[in-house]
Amino acid sequence: MYRQLKKNIFKAKILGRLPFSEKTKRDALYSGMTWPNNAAFATVISFDIDYMEDEAALTPVIELLQNNDCPASFACIGAMVEQRSGCYRLLPELGYEIINHSMNHPYHRVIYPDDRWMNLSEEKIKTEIINCHDIIRTKLGYTCKGFRTPHFEFRGDIIPVLKELNYTYDSSGFYSEKEIAGSLPPLIDGFLEIPIYREASSYRCVREQHLTDIQWSSKLEDILQYEASIGGIASFYFDPQDIPARPWVLQKLIKTARENNAWLATYAEVAGHTAVL
Ligand SMILES: [Zn+2]
Repeated sequence: MYRQLKKNIFKAKILGRLPFSEKTKRDALYSGMTWPNNAAFATVISFDIDYMEDEAALTPVIELLQNNDCPASFACIGAMVEQRSGCYRLLPELGYEIINHSMNHPYHRVIYPDDRWMNLSEEKIKTEIINCHDIIRTKLGYTCKGFRTPHFEFRGDIIPVLKELNYTYDSSGFYSEKEIAGSLPPLIDGFLEIPIYREASSYRCVREQHLTDIQWSSKLEDILQYEASIGGIASFYFDPQDIPARPWVLQKLIKTARENNAWLATYAEVAGHTAVL
């Protein structure tokens, strides 16, 4: 009973004032979704740079992306960019997207261990988003267009802040596997929310479930085949630190996406494309 109640409160907090269910379903861009260059579907590969271990893995990850001519989006934490901007400078220089991932990433085991994103005041949330935006602009000369909440704790009151900053999308808390609209983006208060295959992340598959590389790779392949068949978005997130030990998994993902006629793009490009539909 208590657990159920707790679950409901959490759910209510997550959804905030979202007109979820029917409205979300109706607003989802189910039909008429077409992709540039007659591609069958879109594929977005994103990385969350959450820890120094992720920063340390950036060079091999970028090398792999460069060798495979593959775009990608990187969620970056303001406080880390501020301290070690040298690690991040190459990302915009090489044309990769930077996603605002908040200034201090609440519930981060090093930077901000004491509180969760869900518990912060509306004012604090706003500061977290705006400060990260400003640091990335000052330190890297890059203007973010999208946001990802720490630990994917989506809450509805981020939307007005993101709109104020002229962001074009959020990609925070929606599971492609679990949402009514699947992998296709719903509009939340007229704002684009791009779901993610969170169950296929390296964190979940490699570190939590201890799948073999082959099992993980086959899960990724299944998603690509499925998205190719429905014309959706195969939106992935990985932690850079998990890649250097198994680069072939990412290589194979990129190769299979291409073989299935994917449009490999950043989130910002996908958001730009859906805006003109
Ligand atoms: Zn994170």
